[in-house]
Amino acid sequence: MSESKRRDVWVDGPVIIGAGPSGLATAACLKEKGIPSLIIDRSNCIASLWKLKTYDRLKLHLPKIFCMLPLMPFPASCPNYPTKQDFVTYMEDYARHFNLEPEFNQTVVSARFDGFWRVTTVGIKMEEREYVCQWLIVATGENAEEVVPEFEGMDEFVGPITHSSSYKSGDSFQSKRVLVVGCGNSGMEVALDLCNSKARPSLVVRDSVHVLPQEMLGISTFGLATKLLRWFPVRLVDRFLLAISHFRLGNTAKLGLKRPNLGPIELKITMGKTPVLDFGTVENIRKGNIKVVPRIKKFMRHGVEFVDGTVKNFDAIILATGYRSNVPAWLKGNDLFSEKDGFPKESFPKGWKGENGLYAAGFTKRGLLGISFDAKRIADDIETCWNIKGKANQ
Ligand SMILES: Cc1cc2nc3c(=O)[nH]c(=O)nc-3n(C[C@H](O)[C@H](O)[C@H](O)COP(=O)(O)OP(=O)(O)OC[C@H]3O[C@@H](n4cnc5c(N)ncnc54)[C@H](O)[C@@H]3O)c2cc1C
Repeated sequence: MSESKRRDVWVDGPVIIGAGPSGLATAACLKEKGIPSLIIDRSNCIASLWKLKTYDRLKLHLPKIFCMLPLMPFPASCPNYPTKQDFVTYMEDYARHFNLEPEFNQTVVSARFDGFWRVTTVGIKMEEREYVCQWLIVATGENAEEVVPEFEGMDEFVGPITHSSSYKSGDSFQSKRVLVVGCGNSGMEVALDLCNSKARPSLVVRDSVHVLPQEMLGISTFGLATKLLRWFPVRLVDRFLLAISHFRLGNTAKLGLKRPNLGPIELKITMGKTPVLDFGTVENIRKGNIKVVPRIKKFMRHGVEFVDGTVKNFDAIILATGYRSNVPAWLKGNDLFSEKDGFPKESFPKGWKGENGLYAAGFTKRGLLGISFDAKRIADDIETCWNIKGKANQ
């Protein structure tokens, strides 16, 4: 499209890319300080990840106290572990409360700095827009794009192969042999959901994994760990968590779920790898309702050959193989984000601020809790410049 046909929009205040929890939280914190902002999103709704790409049985993994966005708690009527629908309703109320009205169907294809930030978007009819602003807040998420690995022979498989982001429920898989690839939180939960829907799931476990009960001693495992970490060193807390996990779940290695050498919290801090919370998957593996299988060697017409040489037939494959950031595809020449993985080069608590008014919201590998930290810090930081700018204009 020629430059003359493109619509240019000057934005007085920051442009926020992404209308998920991070974008909404940051816009709300700015609004509280009297700073306007504009949120743009490629989707046609707020919280698109939660509305369109999550399964029906999903509940927040942590109690609501750890998942609220800044300035507005969950309503008292909301259960301690909100369901997906509770969380979506909360975010809709949040956007309404702060009067946040994102511009939808605008996919960011490039963002560059030449004294101002110039953000180019493409709409559904391929029309281009350029938003020009002084501050750019990237809130496109750690889960922007699905990771779909390539396997030998994948094209030959006759059944459906889908990513877990398209999985809604096990209803259509009754009595089907389903291979779930990946044993993170999504893989473990999808396998359990399939099992509850009378399907016959197998779970590919490639690496070691820490599985912990969702609650210990009557409180959330996360809440307990947070409390203990105030008093004790990480390794001691890890030992304690593992002892209770062993007591509650037994020796998971015997079920094919070998634990990593580092403890769950040390692994999270050093590698950003989140432990898996168990909602009943381990019990079903023990009962034989969910089979644990090794790494895939290749796909065949009706099944899969594993690295140990065994061959099994399957009716469907679900890839719970995770997500990636898409920032490197559209944000060039900046100091904040790594070209390699699209995450900030510096890890939490750094990595939220770059140069020239560039910010990252929601890339802390700490879920909704990390989002609140980012949103508040970014708003505080922009407020300083905003006040200076206001005084200069007086
Ligand atoms: C199945 C699942 C379960 C989860 N459960 C939990 C949980 O229980 N607790 C927890 O804390 N976290 C959980 N998470 C992590 C969760 O993703 C985050 O907590 C939260 O959604 C991140 O918010 P965000 O706004 O940073 O990113 P997102 O929610 O991903 O929002 C990013 C937005 O950016 C938009 N976008 C992306 N690229 C572009 C572009 N180029 N142009 C324009 N717009 C763009 C997207 O459309 C999206 O609306 C879960 C994730 C998944 C996938």
